Parts: sequence; structure tokens; C-alpha cells
Amino acid sequence: MAPIRIALVGIGKIARDQHIPALAASEDFELVAAVSRHTGPEGIPLFRTIDDMLAAGIKVDAVSLCTPPVGRYALARSAIAAGLHVMLEKPPAASVTEAEDLANAARRRGVSLYTTWHTRAAPAIEPARAWVAEHNVRDVVITWREDVKKWHPGQEWIWEPGGLGVFDPGINALSAITRIMPDALHLTDAELFFPANRAAPIAAHLTMSDANGTPIRAEFDWREEGQDRWDIDIVADGGRLALSKGGARLAIGDKVFVDGGAIDAEYPGLYARFAELVRTGQSDVDLAPFRLVADAFMLGRHTTIEPFIE
Ligand code: NAP
Repeated sequence: MAPIRIALVGIGKIARDQHIPALAASEDFELVAAVSRHTGPEGIPLFRTIDDMLAAGIKVDAVSLCTPPVGRYALARSAIAAGLHVMLEKPPAASVTEAEDLANAARRRGVSLYTTWHTRAAPAIEPARAWVAEHNVRDVVITWREDVKKWHPGQEWIWEPGGLGVFDPGINALSAITRIMPDALHLTDAELFFPANRAAPIAAHLTMSDANGTPIRAEFDWREEGQDRWDIDIVADGGRLALSKGGARLAIGDKVFVDGGAIDAEYPGLYARFAELVRTGQSDVDLAPFRLVADAFMLGRHTTIEPFIE
């Protein structure tokens, strides 16, 4: 089968760390162009805009958008209008309405749209979902703590409105728990901690629940200077499940069932799924994690704390 000709848009940290290696190893895709304002991968034609790429006559079937969320809507709309299949980094857009509009536009144009959630492709997520389906969950605690200086050095967009602040990693935890739990989650309470000099939160505490009233608490914090913690602990009748390393490790009681690689295992899975969607004419758009973030900004108390200086 001929590979899907794809262009990568927004050549920054995640494009270089994950997308380029995953595409290089994939038999489903051929990376034919890059679109970015500054630099692109060696040996691939580079364009400043999607329209410039199309005007140059490059034959392309799909784009994968790795720009920051603000501005991604316009890029995705022009790709869809040109009849290209579109894969979106998380979060899928700058607002829920933008993401819904992209889903409608893709449906009308007959192209595939894939809103990726890379943590859902971590090796312990599906086994955790299967275990939860067989157990009555009593309590869930999510701890997502990392050092913003280590993971987002110099990324100013992440502190601007629409950059999401600590919800940029926190949404990964929400993408995992909304996949694992069988029923929809809703937010009941939140507190967001904004540094006095920033427009986005550096920490957040969320309380959520499901239709059964299961308590689900989450703590997101970007001020961790020790070991990163990306953990979800689930207590159920008859057992305790611990997900750690962002979904790469799964223990039930004292027994470890999965202890796989970290994020490196996720992107090949995302591209395999995108290829399947393109080849079967489908889309995969799940906005549940994004809605919870929007609800946290809407319902949460906003508390101002000391300035953050990088
Ligand atoms: P990044 O390092 O800042 O890269 C984004 C790239 O997009 C920039 O290098 C820039 O390249 C281009 N760009 C286009 N418009 C831009 C704008 N208005 N402001 C800044 N850059 C713009 O960001 P990233 O960490 O790769 O994150 C990109 C997306 O991937 C985010 O949605 C993030 O949540 C997601 N993600 C990141 C990670 C991670 O570990 N960093 C992990 C998973 C997912 P040009 O200047 O050449 O145009």
C-alpha cells in the first residue's frame, strides 16, 4: 500500500522529539514537507505556510499540526479546506468551540480528523481500563507534578491565555482518566493558582465525579523540583491499581503488570491510528479531556500567588 504523504507543521520540541522519529520509523507515512517559520528537518522542503506548500505543487495527503494551540484552528481549517486529512497535537485547539467546528468542517469536507491524546497510547492505559471495567471503583487520586523549567524552558506561549499553563501537562492525566473510567466525568470544584505575573495557572486542584458519585481528585503542579510524578491511584472493591510514569507502569496490589518505556512508545501508536483512520475514511474526535479543562477555568476559584520567574 502506498504510504500517506504527510507534512509536519510547527517544528518545535515535540515535533523534533517525537513526531519526526515516529514518522521516520513508520511504513504508513512518507514525510514530504515541513511548515514552520524558522527551521525544519534536514532534507525536507520547508515552507512558511500551508498555502505556500500547496502553491509549490507538493503532493500531500495529510498534515500533522504540532504548533501551540492558539492559532492551530486557522491552520487546520485551511488544511481541511484543501482536502487534507488532519492530525492534531493535544490540546486540539484553543477552545472547545474551535475543536467542534473543526470536527464539523472535516465531516463536511470528507477528510479524517484525529484529535490525539498521547498519554492514551501509553502501554498501561488499556490494561487499566480493562481492570476498572471489572471492579467497582471507590476513589481516584491523580498526582501530576513536574518542573516547568525542565519541560517548557523559554516557552512563553504556554503562559499566555490559551496556553493552558499547568493544564498543558494536566490534560494528559485527564485524557488518561476519561479513557479509563467507564462513565463520563464532570467537574464539581477547582482552585487554580496563577502567578501574579502570568496569565495561566502554575498549579491546580480539581475535584471531579461520575454518575455513581465516585470521588476523583487531581493535583497538577509545575513547581516540582525533584522527581516528576505522573501518577493515578485507583482504589476499588477488591484491589488497588497504581498507574505511574505517565501511564507506562501499572501495578495492582504488589504485583507489577506493565513497566514499559515512557513517551517514546506513544507516538508510533498515534501514527498507526491516524493511518487506520485515513485508510478507513473515519475521524476520531474526543473532546472530554478538553471540556474538563474548560470547566475548570469556568468553575474554578482563581487564586493569585507569588510571581514566577524562570
Ligand atoms: P514549541 O517547542 O514551542 O514548538 C512549537 C513550534 O510551533 C515552534 O517551534 C514554532 O516553530 C511553531 N509556532 C507556530 N506558531 C507559533 C506561535 N504563535 N508561537 C510559538 N510557536 C509557534 O512547543 P512544543 O513543546 O513542541 O508543543 C507544541 C504542542 O505539542 C503543544 O500543543 C503541546 O501541548 C504539545 N506537546 C508537547 C510536548 C512536549 O514535551 N513539549 C509533549 C506532548 C505534546 P516556528 O517558529 O518555526 O514556526
